[in-house]
Amino acid sequence: MGDAAGVKTVVALGGEGIGVEVVDATCELLAAAGFPLRILTPPHGEAAQRSHGSPVPDETKRLCGAADGILFGAAGGPASVAVITYLRWQQDAYANVRPIKYYEGARSPLADPRGIDFVVLRENMEGLYPAREGDLAELARALPELRDHIGRRMGEYGEGRFAVKVVSRHGTERIARFACELALKRRDRGRPGKITCVTKSNVLVRSDGFFQEVVEGVVRQYAGLAFEHFYVDDASRRFVRFPQAMDVVLCMNLYGDILSDLAAEAAGGLGIAPSGCFGDRWAYFESVHGSAPDIAGQAIANPTATILSAAMMLEHMGLAAEAERLEAAVARVYRDGRRLTRDQGGTATTGEFCKAVLEALG
Ligand code: ATP
Repeated sequence: MGDAAGVKTVVALGGEGIGVEVVDATCELLAAAGFPLRILTPPHGEAAQRSHGSPVPDETKRLCGAADGILFGAAGGPASVAVITYLRWQQDAYANVRPIKYYEGARSPLADPRGIDFVVLRENMEGLYPAREGDLAELARALPELRDHIGRRMGEYGEGRFAVKVVSRHGTERIARFACELALKRRDRGRPGKITCVTKSNVLVRSDGFFQEVVEGVVRQYAGLAFEHFYVDDASRRFVRFPQAMDVVLCMNLYGDILSDLAAEAAGGLGIAPSGCFGDRWAYFESVHGSAPDIAGQAIANPTATILSAAMMLEHMGLAAEAERLEAAVARVYRDGRRLTRDQGGTATTGEFCKAVLEALG
């Protein structure tokens, strides 16, 4: 939708809780920075449910479809979860890129977090999400011969529920290719060019084992990329003990959900961790954190994760120089350390932090 003067269109959807606060603050910052953007804020979530009878009205969908970039805040209740359902699952945004980077001055609990710079790449469409669940009795009827590893049939568990884990060849190959392309891009910027595949294939031999085998097969087709595999329990330990050894960490959906929070906290906190969800023809950007109802409405949320998500969005939109300037300004504010938010040991409000970033942009 970029116009003749090179102005790009962004749709900003705050979602819920602190999502609204950090997206508003980030949009004000982007506008004040003078970046060539037209920012639209169409109705969505609970307000749209009341005014339009839908959490994602058709007009909002149309604007998202035509936009150059989409920035989302955070989901909480059902109406904002419906926004995520639209942005992520209905658009097949299968690759969730979650950069884990230490900025000097950030409040990492690690003794030496310097040099942490990796990406948790979470497969978004398969594994155990989006939920496919049912009653054990239905499963027992459909698959009477299905047994667990100790020989029990499903009918022997009594009343209960089940969840289905899906690992398709197509879904695994495409996320593995995405991982490889990402690792190559990062290698051009001096990173090692390594894919770390994370599964629990020693227990889930057929499903996770298949994921591991297919990923390794794809990575081996890319000359110059290294491959390694860790079980998810081992990977979580390594994230804390050897985070500097990671480059692109490819995880199935649930593992990536959990490990990326762990990694984000190790590198400095949830308030700093950005993300982008990519499909073949669609992308949107959001912080890793959620709606944080415990701190909503107090103007103390750290907007860094959303500002850095916006930087990822700018790069994706072809505004690489603006993206670099924005990230460098954030890094400067952390290095300086005087105007950080409460989660980072400071006293700055959301707005005061953004003002500091604006000043650091020069
Ligand atoms: P959800 O279920 O939507 O993920 P949640 O509150 O369980 O919401 P998060 O929102 O991800 O989980 O955050 C967990 C906690 O981390 C919050 O309760 C909050 O204290 C802290 N936190 C998260 N994001 C931020 C932020 N941007 N700034 C400051 N603190 C944050």
